Amino acid sequence: MDFDVIVIGSGLAGLASALTAKERGAADILLVESEGVLGGSTRLSGGVVMGSRSRLQREAGIEDGGDDLFKEYMAINVWDVAAGPVERWAARSGETIDWLADHGVPFYERLIFSGDDRRPRGHCVNGGGQAIVDALVPRCREAGIEFLLGNRVDELVHDNGRVTGVRAGGEELTCGSVIVATGGFGANPEHLAAHYPIAWIPGETFYIGADGARGDHLRFAGQVGAAVTGENRGLRMLNPGVDTMHEAFLPGWTILVDDRGQRFCDETAPYGILDSLLKPRGDVGYVVFDHAALRPPPGLAERYGDAYKQIWPNHAKFKPKHYTADVMEQFSGHERVHSAESLEALARSAGLPEADFAGTVARYNQLVEAGEDTDFGKAARFLNPISTAPFYAVEVRPTAIAHTGYGLRIDDHARVIGVDGNVIEGLYAAGECTGGIVGPTYSGSGSSLASAAGVGRMAGEAAARAVLAARV
Ligand SMILES: Cc1cc2nc3c(=O)[nH]c(=O)nc-3n(C[C@H](O)[C@H](O)[C@H](O)COP(=O)(O)OP(=O)(O)OC[C@H]3O[C@@H](n4cnc5c(N)ncnc54)[C@H](O)[C@@H]3O)c2cc1C
Repeated sequence: MDFDVIVIGSGLAGLASALTAKERGAADILLVESEGVLGGSTRLSGGVVMGSRSRLQREAGIEDGGDDLFKEYMAINVWDVAAGPVERWAARSGETIDWLADHGVPFYERLIFSGDDRRPRGHCVNGGGQAIVDALVPRCREAGIEFLLGNRVDELVHDNGRVTGVRAGGEELTCGSVIVATGGFGANPEHLAAHYPIAWIPGETFYIGADGARGDHLRFAGQVGAAVTGENRGLRMLNPGVDTMHEAFLPGWTILVDDRGQRFCDETAPYGILDSLLKPRGDVGYVVFDHAALRPPPGLAERYGDAYKQIWPNHAKFKPKHYTADVMEQFSGHERVHSAESLEALARSAGLPEADFAGTVARYNQLVEAGEDTDFGKAARFLNPISTAPFYAVEVRPTAIAHTGYGLRIDDHARVIGVDGNVIEGLYAAGECTGGIVGPTYSGSGSSLASAAGVGRMAGEAAARAVLAARV
């Protein structure tokens, strides 16, 4: 046999599983990466990792109940996830953060709210996702893990229901266990159209992750009869369709209305929530604001400048990318960008029902006047009137793809399950290539890296256990 364990993919899932397999006793480990650079989408990421009951969380004085993360994750996903693997991953999420920190991942002391969680669980890495890769790769090399770059694994080799190796570039490499950690399929339009159709608008949908996210796990699944799950799951962010610049959050001084001209949420909601809220609304929304927000009157610049709930220690203060005077001027006349001197004219231009839209804005201005958003609970500091012409309505759709969630079905030890219901011997999976971990609502910043690291560790442990057992 050439190796004890072969890991496919060098993102956080691959690095965490390789290092863990080594720590748990596997001797010869090879990590194969298709691209010329290590790190996949992980290295491009914001580097926020969700975790409950880590040392950092305790040191920050934040109390988190034993299974609160699991319960909140189940609730936000209306139980529509693979509860077994999710429970094990969530229960060990704090320990996984500690493990990453012990391996040199430079977390800030201050935690943030990951999404709609009850307490801060977002652990932010100084240097973002690249710093995670920069910390773990040297650890892997020191541990003797071999890296093979620029080699795309084409095929899983299997014999009698058991995976026994991989084929890459015409060469076959044999091993005791294979861990698939190939990321998602955002870079593959055919897979997006087939498996994430609610995200697919030809000519408009764009992906913000790594080039290597081509969905090779789906080909592997076909080769070995693995079960796949998680159709239409992932993360879509709102975009006006004028460019491919992704913008994670809406400024607090906007209102978001549906095609009936009605407001439906606190506009400062996490992006995963906004994604979910648009689904039953035909995946179309209109971001509405006024001239004062673009060119604040004297004395109000600071008030309008404080536009975001989310403040990340590893990120410059968020600033609007699309909702600025320059962009509105540049795209004036674009079919998605509407402006008018009156709310009625704006509604006509955007195709919204005039009376309903005018009523929505009037109601919002009353709430602003009263100083409290008793309809949707947006924080008072974001409440500014929409009353200074010209008015703007920008049509947005969830077309910026940051994550895909259709992938290999795994058990609570990251073992891949076959379509026949049996575990496929010798095969494990972790990270974005798995299915059933992301539910109908993307639960917040940090959940993907947390599952890549946590399930990656589970896969490394299980693969090493199998290798050691085979030696006896
Ligand atoms: C801009 C951006 C910001 C993000 N920010 C955050 C964040 O702050 N927090 C968070 O939790 N999530 C975030 N995410 C999501 C998160 O980064 C990913 O879900 C996570 O990194 C996936 O890790 P992974 O190890 O599963 O896959 P990846 O990191 O994508 O690694 C997979 C690797 O496998 C390689 N590969 C694929 N096929 C093959 C093959 N056949 N043979 C060999 N190699 C192959 C790929 O080239 C790639 O290097 C963000 C995503 C993006 C795009």
